[in-house]
Amino acid sequence: MTNAQPKASHFINGEYVEDTNGQQINCIFPATGETIATLHSATPELIDRALDAAKAGQKTWAAMSGTERGRVLRRAADIMRERNHELSQLETLDTGKPLQETLVADATSAADALEYFGGLAGSLTGEHIQLGDDWVYTKREPLGVCVGIGAWNYPTQIAAWKGAPALACGNAMVFKPSETTPLCALKVAEILHEAGLPAGVYNVVQGYGDVGAALVSDPRVDKVSLTGSVPTGRKVYAAAADGMKHVTMELGGKSPILIFDDADIEDAVGGAILGNFYSSGQVCSNGTRVFVQKGIKDAFLARLKERLETVVMGDPRDEATNFGPMVTANQMNIVLGYLEKGVAEGARLISGGKRASRDGFFIEPTVFADVTDTMTIAQEEIFGPVLSVLDFETEEDAIARANATEFGLSAGVFTKDLTRAHRVIGQLEAGSCWINTYNLAPVEAPFGGSKMSGVGRENSKEAINYYSQMKSVYVGMGPVDAPF
Ligand code: NDP
Repeated sequence: MTNAQPKASHFINGEYVEDTNGQQINCIFPATGETIATLHSATPELIDRALDAAKAGQKTWAAMSGTERGRVLRRAADIMRERNHELSQLETLDTGKPLQETLVADATSAADALEYFGGLAGSLTGEHIQLGDDWVYTKREPLGVCVGIGAWNYPTQIAAWKGAPALACGNAMVFKPSETTPLCALKVAEILHEAGLPAGVYNVVQGYGDVGAALVSDPRVDKVSLTGSVPTGRKVYAAAADGMKHVTMELGGKSPILIFDDADIEDAVGGAILGNFYSSGQVCSNGTRVFVQKGIKDAFLARLKERLETVVMGDPRDEATNFGPMVTANQMNIVLGYLEKGVAEGARLISGGKRASRDGFFIEPTVFADVTDTMTIAQEEIFGPVLSVLDFETEEDAIARANATEFGLSAGVFTKDLTRAHRVIGQLEAGSCWINTYNLAPVEAPFGGSKMSGVGRENSKEAINYYSQMKSVYVGMGPVDAPF
């Protein structure tokens, strides 16, 4: 198995950098509780160095043609795919997610982003607008220095989903991973540099929220992209607003999945499993409020329970395992608290409901039925393997209740009725939606939330708008007509 200890804690100006004066960060393997690496938080001197390096690197990078920049990103994608196995092992150690998942969902998704935005880099053009003899042309320009701040559930993917479009547009990036999962972003930086990225263009600094806050408020920074919870999003958005910085906010959710009587039951159960138990439920877009129409409810619950009995919980390093632990003891305890509340508030436990009797931070995949809209488990983001089934009778009722939340990240509908599928999804207040499937997030599709779930979109051509700005140049071709 991969040795988890990195060469040093940070990657600044094209090289690994250590400063043991920073607060110690212990990286813990969630399946055993063992410390697998020790790093240090960035000191103010290192934050300063990273921002200076980014500022200087950005100039060199932006002066290259889009095609040249794209070539570096695409080369990095190739290296990432060649090393997928080793990178997936590291992702598994960092997060505890099963290797069965990380082999197909993390470095591969990061490589897709690098390849996709590498391909777009050469075609980021402006337009020509003819105005009689005069004309206007527009230029798509980089923003400058971007700060990326990541959550702990997808450390490789988040580092690349933010880095790839930022770099394609000619920006530099300083990325701060969650201190819970500090390892994978360093590999993204290392691979980008191996692929020919100039020094300073992609830097990684470790740290807790204070390092994130220092980066966000620094005047050298032009844009902030956060993946995190709504409370952190509020703070970061406010700090960015003070400096009038651009933002992308990818925040939490409490997303609905609506399952109608005519749905294909295997697909609906499969969708609910994908939308609640992948990564042990630690996915922002999860459909944790599963509204099931009364006619299909008993069959749905019975089949869901049966399929959950085939879960293979175990050592995530074993490729046969398909269900791993919570990322930390703290996250496990938060989820256990919600399980207690679910029972106390009267939800009916169908499966799971407790900590698994094994080492590490494992919680059994849990299903509650007869959940009502006012229960805590139906209102708050749990970020664990807890699926709540709510009953409904009419389409109107389901839509109104699905929308009765401050969040708006995702939504799903399962039905064989084509017109209903589109009618219902059109009324759900969410940024990333699925019909008859759930939680697929290819780089070609925009991803992001509405309402409190976020601002801006990642992935797809849409992300370019959030990492660049248009300069408009009016060209006068005739005499200047002034009033005096
Ligand atoms: P947090 O909001 O706790 O932290 C997110 C990141 O922000 C961490 O790196 C954190 O550092 C940092 N941070 C904390 N305070 C500040 C601050 N004041 N200024 C700048 N940075 C700060 O989220 P989690 O890591 O717990 O991740 C889970 C959350 O992320 C869930 O709500 C989930 O829904 C959301 N998420 C959203 C996704 C999306 O795309 N919409 C995808 C994945 C997750 P530190 O960890 O050191 O505190």
